This record gives sequence, C-alpha cells and structure tokens, in this order.
Amino acid sequence: MGLNQLIGNKRIKSILYSYLRNDNIPYSMIFSGSAAANTLSFAVAFAKAIQCLDRDEDFCGACRHCEEIDREIFPDLKIITPEGQFYKKEQIVFLKEDNYRRPLMGKKKIFIIKDAQKMNENSANAFLKVLEEPAESTMFILLTKNLNNLLPTIKSRCQILNFTLPTQAELKAFFLQKGIDDSQAELMSYLGQSGIEDIIEGNFDELMKKRQLSLKILINLTNKTDVDEILLDLNTRSRSRDSFLEYFTEQVNLLSLLLRDIMLLHIDKESEFVINIDNKETLMNLCEQIPMPKVLYLIQRMELLFRDIKRNLNTKILVLEFIKSYTMKEVNHVQSDYR
Ligand SMILES: [Zn+2]
Repeated sequence: MGLNQLIGNKRIKSILYSYLRNDNIPYSMIFSGSAAANTLSFAVAFAKAIQCLDRDEDFCGACRHCEEIDREIFPDLKIITPEGQFYKKEQIVFLKEDNYRRPLMGKKKIFIIKDAQKMNENSANAFLKVLEEPAESTMFILLTKNLNNLLPTIKSRCQILNFTLPTQAELKAFFLQKGIDDSQAELMSYLGQSGIEDIIEGNFDELMKKRQLSLKILINLTNKTDVDEILLDLNTRSRSRDSFLEYFTEQVNLLSLLLRDIMLLHIDKESEFVINIDNKETLMNLCEQIPMPKVLYLIQRMELLFRDIKRNLNTKILVLEFIKSYTMKEVNHVQSDYR
C-alpha cells in the first residue's frame, strides 16, 4: 500500500514523499485540478501517510489509523463540504474553533476542504483569519477545480500543487492492476483520459449509462428526432451552472469519442483503434448517415465547444452552439427562448 498506488501525477507524488521524508509538511496546501485528476484521493492518501502508525514516509493501509480513515471515522481527519452553494460563515467559525483543539489520536488534525473556491467574501475572509493564526498541530488541504476563484491572500499562504489528468497508459495499467480485462481496460482508459470522472471514482455502471445516453443523443441529432427534448433537457440543466458544466463537458467528451470512432470507421471498417467497440454496429449505421466531411466538421465544433467552456461562456450560449453544430433548422424556432 502507499501513495505510489494512486493513478498518475508522479511529480506530485515525489513532492509529497519529500515532505514526509523530511518531516516538513506545509501547514496549508492547495490541491488544484479537476476531480478527474483525483485530488481527493491524493489528499486522503497523504493524510493517511501522515497519520499511519506503522510507516513514517507512507501509509500501510492496515493499521488502526489507516483503517479508521478508510472507514471515515478517524477523528483527526475531517473532510468538509459547503453547506449549500457556498461555505457558510458559521461553518468556518466552527472550523476555526475545531482547528485549535489538539488531535485526539493522530499526529495532526487534518482538514480537507472540498470545493474551496465555493467561499463567498464573508466565509473567505473568515477562513483567511484561520490561516493567519495557525494552530500548532493542524493542517489544511484545500481542493479546488478553479484556482482562479480563490482569494489571492489565501493562495499566498498555501503551498499550491497543480494536478494533471492521468495519461491513457497510466489509466490502462491501473485498470489492469484492478483485474479488469484488457479490452475493457483499453476502453476505460480512453474515456478516463478525456476527463470522465466516473472512471476514476470507479462508477463504471454510471459511466455506461452516460455513454448510452450520448449515443442516443447523437442518433437523435443525426436523425433530427426529439431535438426539442434534448434542447429542453440542456436548457433545464443550464440553470445550475456548476452541475451543468460538469454534465455538458462530459457529454461533449463522450460525443467527441463517438465521432472519432465514426471517422475511423469511415476510413477502415475493421479499424482496431475504435474505442466504443461495444457499440460498433450502431456506429456503423451512423457512419452510413453522417458523411465524412460532416464528421470532421462536428469533431472540430466539439473542440471549439471545449474552448468555449474554458472561456466561461454563458451556459445558454453553449447549449445553443451545441445544438447549432448538429442542426441549423431546428434552432430557429427555439432561439427566442435564449434571448
Ligand atoms: Zn497505517
């Protein structure tokens, strides 16, 4: 057992190991990266390595502390999430009081703060005060998907580690190690590399459902059936920006992979590089319906959408651009909703 068994981010592992080896653990850290980059697993594993009874520079996974951390009952590791859309000031006040209590069992009291960017001005300032007056045996690990949304004064007090998505090879090796068969591991590794969070969290069934949904969306958009329903669904989801962006990015990812496969099948019907091989028959049908120039056009459009997502464009505009990519005609009569 140990930190080395986590997927990817070799550079970060070596930084964490050096902190442990030199017994020089920062008081507050920021793990920055998408959830697919596995920041939470790294934070929990690092906490285990600090608290482990058997090992000094890593965790054993079997001692009482490691085991209690796995069961989420260890008193000196707390994982905190915002109550509602943002952290409430009372949550931070409570945190502040708790932070001054001595650890009950562990070497340190560790707080993992999920979605640290979700602090409004009040809670961020309250948290800043906590960081300004460090307690002796406490440490904080802030997780964030969006480093830009953290107060500069908070960032300047934290050691920032930037996580990257695991590579396809790293993912495949990880799945093989978990006993997943080769073709499934190959499929999962491609999907995971595109940032599909369910993969890394092990929600394979959930991912299968999403894949089937994206295939259905592609079929409907191609046949121009139920386009209004797709639009309505996206429109409803777009009211909650964060969850919409998560869903939308994932769907655009999955659609891009489907389009990539259709492109490959256009070139070679027996291509061994098709990722969604379990849906080959359906993809062959789509291949008949979507001519190559259109496939290339759509792939390019999906890339542009990724760029637009990163640019923080309005969700309604994203939805409109998405639908427009596939079909021009249907958009006209619903366009008025978006003004
Ligand atoms: Zn242990």
